[in-house]
Amino acid sequence: MCDETVEFSYLASMLDAVVRAKKGPLKRKHVRTFLDHVYTDHEFFSAMRLMLPNLDKERGNYGLKEAVLAKSLAEALCLSKDSEDAQKLLNWRKGGTRAGSNAGNFSFVATEILCRRQRVTSTGIKIKEVNDLLDRLAAADRREEKVAVLGEMINKTNAQEMRWIIMIILKDLKLGISEKTFFSEFHPDAEDLFNVTCDLKLVCDKLRNRNERYDRQDIEVGKAVRPQLAARVANVEEAWKKFRGKQVIVECKFDGDRIQIHKNGSSVNFFSRNFIDHQEFKEGVANLIIQNVLPDKCILDGEMLVWDRSTKRFADFGTNREADVAFDVLYHGNSSVIHLPLRERQQLLEKSIKPLQGRLELLLPSGSAQPSTGESKWSFIASRAEDVEQFFQQTVENREEGIILKDLDSKWEPTDRSGKWLKLKPDYVHTGSDLDVLIIGGYYGSGRRGGQVAQFLLGLAEPPKPGQYPTRFFSFCKVGTGLTDEESDHLVQRLKPYFRRNEKNSKTPSCYIVTNNAKERPDVWIDQPDKYVLLPQGQLFVWLLQSYNLQVFAAPYGLRFPRVNRVRYEKPWYDCLDVQALVDMVNSRSGS
Ligand code: ATP
Repeated sequence: MCDETVEFSYLASMLDAVVRAKKGPLKRKHVRTFLDHVYTDHEFFSAMRLMLPNLDKERGNYGLKEAVLAKSLAEALCLSKDSEDAQKLLNWRKGGTRAGSNAGNFSFVATEILCRRQRVTSTGIKIKEVNDLLDRLAAADRREEKVAVLGEMINKTNAQEMRWIIMIILKDLKLGISEKTFFSEFHPDAEDLFNVTCDLKLVCDKLRNRNERYDRQDIEVGKAVRPQLAARVANVEEAWKKFRGKQVIVECKFDGDRIQIHKNGSSVNFFSRNFIDHQEFKEGVANLIIQNVLPDKCILDGEMLVWDRSTKRFADFGTNREADVAFDVLYHGNSSVIHLPLRERQQLLEKSIKPLQGRLELLLPSGSAQPSTGESKWSFIASRAEDVEQFFQQTVENREEGIILKDLDSKWEPTDRSGKWLKLKPDYVHTGSDLDVLIIGGYYGSGRRGGQVAQFLLGLAEPPKPGQYPTRFFSFCKVGTGLTDEESDHLVQRLKPYFRRNEKNSKTPSCYIVTNNAKERPDVWIDQPDKYVLLPQGQLFVWLLQSYNLQVFAAPYGLRFPRVNRVRYEKPWYDCLDVQALVDMVNSRSGS
């Protein structure tokens, strides 16, 4: 049998059986039976691409996420926009106007509606026909064309089949088994081969006989490789323990998109994490530059960010232009170098690639390693946990995503998340509401705001004794944004009489609890914290630093991206947030 003769209903029934089976081994058995008995002529790709739709890159994108798909299906079924069923589809999360039991599951809601309109028995549509229809759906540019193809699909299938087609379009079959299982039931070398080629068709074509082993293939220029990944750790202490006795490089975890640059003579590929080749980068200057600065044949692993031309720093997306930070080299000359230890790959990266400011930066621990932005250190070879802790603090303050620690002796392995790379990110908890906190100090600004207090040190109260006002305050965070110039001037004028300069060697006012970190030593203290209450708004995040006592501020939690929402001149100072209330808030929101 082949895909021209195999009915799609076989596949749909197998998928149903997989979902119904509660245990992993039974799920596996259903997959194996399907592969064994249905595909006697080994034409696997046409079925595998339907079972693993998110790994199939032969077909373009459908451009149909739930919202557009709902609209298109409603039109394909000729439902009037205001009909109950159309509303149900469009509001699938809520289950239409009345909450239904299928609410929140798009394919179930769609099936509920399709059931009433589609035939019960299968028309016997073949796997090949389904693939042809899906090809047409992906190729259709206009929505009307997509609606027409969906209409044809609805006519040629029953509701059970259509439900699976919808899930294939959404690229999520919710089977409760991983791609690993599909691969291993298919062929013992399938996963390995897929990892280094990201090409499902090639895997299916090459591994037609499960009993014939395939020699492990190395990576190739021009074929995307699934990336080496990082395991998560909760704090520096844990990471340091895991890497005991090893030489470790610590890098900033950039907040961009993973990118793999492949160059082979005049051909360049920019593969994303999902192994999509971003042709659009090839048209820009980036391609020309990459062409000129890279050796003839190589693969670089890195992160794509946005480069701010004016500040000469990496910026938020949507502004300026893209730049790549290469942190690894995977192929050089005529061979793969993933088997070399990281330290050697880094030497190779330094020796063979010339960085180009704002276009192609190299993430290396020394010399040219210092990014041309100059100011921040982005990676270093660590010899003490305390240095890692401090670096982590800095990256958090610089609003980076966190840090990555890498074993310098490690090889680069596709999809490996066993702990050769460890990632540490601050834990965030959304407060969901404003926090009323006190201004306890101020910092002078620069430039336009030079000589004036432009930022504030905020404090939380120590929980007061019952019936009493707070008397001591914990330094909490620093804030400088949120107010207009006018509002800020007004506030500073009102606070001025209470500012006390923090002269060298002067003592911290006894009502404040601070640590020894320079960041929380403001230029001025406010002598009487009972004057004003501020409302900063931001995300609460858990400092992971308690064990090292290296916190920037005295409170156990800090604010990421704090913003002043407004100044509450009317609110009594003693109603400000206390530390215990903050801790309770964090615990309740993080579910602990
Ligand atoms: P996350 O959502 O935390 O990014 P993830 O599952 O996408 O997790 P991880 O393996 O946890 O991926 O983290 C590695 C990712 O971090 C890489 O895919 C890459 O995009 C990004 N990254 C940023 N900076 C670095 C760096 N210096 N070294 C390696 N990866 C980095």
